[in-house]
Amino acid sequence: MTAVSSPVRVRFAPSPTGLLHIGGARTALFNWLYARHTGGKLILRIEDTDAARNTPEAVAIIFEGLKWLGLNWDEGPSPANDGTSIGDHGPYFQSQRGAIYKKYVDRLLAEGKAYEHEGAVKFRTPKTPITVPDAICGDVTFDRTMDPDLVIQRKDGSPVFHLVNVVDDLEMKITHVIRGEDHLSNTPKHLALFEAFGATPPTYAHIPLILNTNGSKMSKRDEGASIGEYIENGYLPEAVRNFLCLLGWSPKENREVVPIEEVVEKFDLPQVNRSNARFDINKLYWITGEYMRAATLDRLAELAVPALKKQGVIGDDYDAAYLRSALAIVQEKVKLGKELGDWLSYFFKEDFAYDPAAVAKVFTPEGLENLKTLRAALAGAETFTAAALEESFKTLAAAQGKKIGAYIHPIRLAVSGRSVGPSLYHLLEVLGKDRTLARADRALAQFPG
Ligand code: GLU
Repeated sequence: MTAVSSPVRVRFAPSPTGLLHIGGARTALFNWLYARHTGGKLILRIEDTDAARNTPEAVAIIFEGLKWLGLNWDEGPSPANDGTSIGDHGPYFQSQRGAIYKKYVDRLLAEGKAYEHEGAVKFRTPKTPITVPDAICGDVTFDRTMDPDLVIQRKDGSPVFHLVNVVDDLEMKITHVIRGEDHLSNTPKHLALFEAFGATPPTYAHIPLILNTNGSKMSKRDEGASIGEYIENGYLPEAVRNFLCLLGWSPKENREVVPIEEVVEKFDLPQVNRSNARFDINKLYWITGEYMRAATLDRLAELAVPALKKQGVIGDDYDAAYLRSALAIVQEKVKLGKELGDWLSYFFKEDFAYDPAAVAKVFTPEGLENLKTLRAALAGAETFTAAALEESFKTLAAAQGKKIGAYIHPIRLAVSGRSVGPSLYHLLEVLGKDRTLARADRALAQFPG
């Protein structure tokens, strides 16, 4: 294959469509990985020549997704100071490069390689078979003998995708075009244009498609198709990025959780799978859970604070230390930021409701009697740690000749309004003695038995 000579230059070239599709995000990621693996450069190029779809919001969605996934790029014009760019470099916008494309069209016209036809400009496509030497798919031959000439500039003077794509890859000295397999069939046209410009084409590497588990092509309406969904639901971006790495690549040891540094070190194009990738949402949940459990409390708090604020669970003046202790005890139960509100709401408000089914089952006259006894015992507790609490519960149960559950269930319901939650002793420790007693009192007042 191509000798490694000039430094690698790759690009992510999304068209703003209003969402960052998981396939696009993976393309961005694979380009980023290849640039980082080779010490090359990644360029972001917004292919926004379709004026109808080209809105600032659609472009912002791409930035937001890339930023969230931690995919930075290395080169580009100075960023516009209008909030549409991130980092030191703005992306290239094709909509601002019309003069460049015109120059190339004129050149083809002048050389007789293109001609005017009813106001449009058509490129004389070669009518001979061609083999695309693809770095992932291998050699793929296209017939081309029946290919019609290619419109490269429309009647209204606007240049067509194939032309701008090739001109920019040439102008930006792109060495490797890593993109979705849906573009493989465009590649003969792109090679023909490179040839017409007398330029060496980049190495093409087409990444297989992402399919649903049932084998159908993933569409934008499928669950998990848009990166915005992951942001919205509070996934840890490093977990999603890990999952995306495995859509077509693997470290070959049957491992699923792979730190990004290791992926950067190992990633190479020949190892990208030739067969289509399967989008397995259960695998994503599993990976997400692994990352959640492994996350430091700092990382967890970073994810939790905006999510909990959005869900109205905390305000700006929340107690950061208290939040961290609460996070520590629900960490193993939670996979997504959006679940945190449900797990943590009662930590932050006193007037939570009691689950009626649990009330019927647990706040029986006997249950309330036990709660009263327990409350009295806890009032005398000197240390309110999980270990000490466990001891007091045991002592009390033994003294009263009851099972520990006789006390655990009523107090859990009294302090949280529900019958399930994190480990009870840890829960009480985090809530603290004052809150625990006050909540027991509230329940006893509300349900006098
Ligand atoms: N703008 C094209 C797309 O979003 C990308 C083409 C390419 O990467 O060459 O599908």
